[in-house]
Amino acid sequence: MTEQIMIESWPRAILHVDCDSFFTSVEQAINPELKGKPIITGAERGIVSAASCEAKALGIKRAMSLSEVAEKFPGVIMLQSDYETYSIFSKRLFDILRRFSPMVEEYSIDEAFCDITGLRRVHHCSYPDIGKKIQETVQKELDITVSVGISLSKSLAKLASKYRKPKGLTAIRGREIHTFLKNTDLQKVWGFGPNTVSLLQKHGLKTALDFVNKPIEWAEKLLGKIGVEIWMELRGQYAYKLNEEEKKTYASISKAKTFTPSSSDVDYVYAQALRNLESACMKARRYNLAANKITLSLRTDEFHTTGVEMKFSRPTAMVMDIAPTLKMLFRELFKNGQKYRQTQIVLAGLQDDTENQFGLFEDPVKVVKSEHISNAIDEINERFGKHTVFMAPGLYLQRYFNGRKRKSLRNQLVIKGESVRQHLRLPLLNYIFSTR
Ligand SMILES: [Mg+2]
Repeated sequence: MTEQIMIESWPRAILHVDCDSFFTSVEQAINPELKGKPIITGAERGIVSAASCEAKALGIKRAMSLSEVAEKFPGVIMLQSDYETYSIFSKRLFDILRRFSPMVEEYSIDEAFCDITGLRRVHHCSYPDIGKKIQETVQKELDITVSVGISLSKSLAKLASKYRKPKGLTAIRGREIHTFLKNTDLQKVWGFGPNTVSLLQKHGLKTALDFVNKPIEWAEKLLGKIGVEIWMELRGQYAYKLNEEEKKTYASISKAKTFTPSSSDVDYVYAQALRNLESACMKARRYNLAANKITLSLRTDEFHTTGVEMKFSRPTAMVMDIAPTLKMLFRELFKNGQKYRQTQIVLAGLQDDTENQFGLFEDPVKVVKSEHISNAIDEINERFGKHTVFMAPGLYLQRYFNGRKRKSLRNQLVIKGESVRQHLRLPLLNYIFSTR
């Protein structure tokens, strides 16, 4: 009664990418000294939210309590989750996939489906080799590893990527589905929860192959529409379409600073917001992202928060581009006489900055120039420490010392600024402006 499931090898090619220990891999990519060490994230929640493969090898599992980890596995490094950075890596991953195929589904923060049907000729290689190229590109550009599964449907591709991990590459061709399903337990099938599995087991089924060998009417009677879809998917028939909608909500960078004592000094509060902007832009540029939107929020010392948002005419991650907008927004929000305790900047609508286009009335030479300046500033700050070079109003951050106003601010600041410039032989940067 067992019939051949598929004859043709690749009527359709669906690729599933699953990052290996995603959160901890990202941590290891940003802090190379963590590589090869057992690390976990989730310190802020008190339970393990992700464990590196080194930690998994020790026996650490997701959702284990941190006190248990600390007791049983001394020496494990516990980190706070940094979802913003994970989201940026996720975004970069999806951007890479879109270079290989326009049809990408962002399934979760660390998983995606990709329809690569008919793209062998474009990439001059076989479907498994496209998977290999994706793995190499992600490794090279993001310094994390992914496991890839390729098959005729989403369900099969997802089973394939789980088959070998980490760094696995598994392709299930039409004629191999049969053998693969024979070795697949029911609980491994995408969409089969524990209740469904025990129901199927009551009918004497053990493997995914047992399920697809039942007539489709049987699957429908027992499990309804979902049963039919899974039955088709497992036979290599494409029942689940890709959802190609690009998820934008998670792609934002926020930087906030709470200062004590609170302040009603307009220059000082603006300088804090500008410093937030510098940090946010620095982060965006580090990951080659540009923002479409900025939000500025100010929190008063009575914990009342007001915010205002603005869209850019062109995506950017350059402080010099955004500062005039920030200043405008700041003027709108800041109330004289009001004391503030926190500033926050959110850069949102992040996108790959290589897609940037110049605005119609913009001088491309000027844009390229400010890009060069931004890159130079990044380099200096990387070498000599964060905020070695900063926008002039940032000088007002030093107006106070232990909450008391300094007397000779001006002299002190000029000397500091000049010495940095002289030391680095930098020309004067002509984007200094006053906040008055
Ligand atoms: Mg994963």
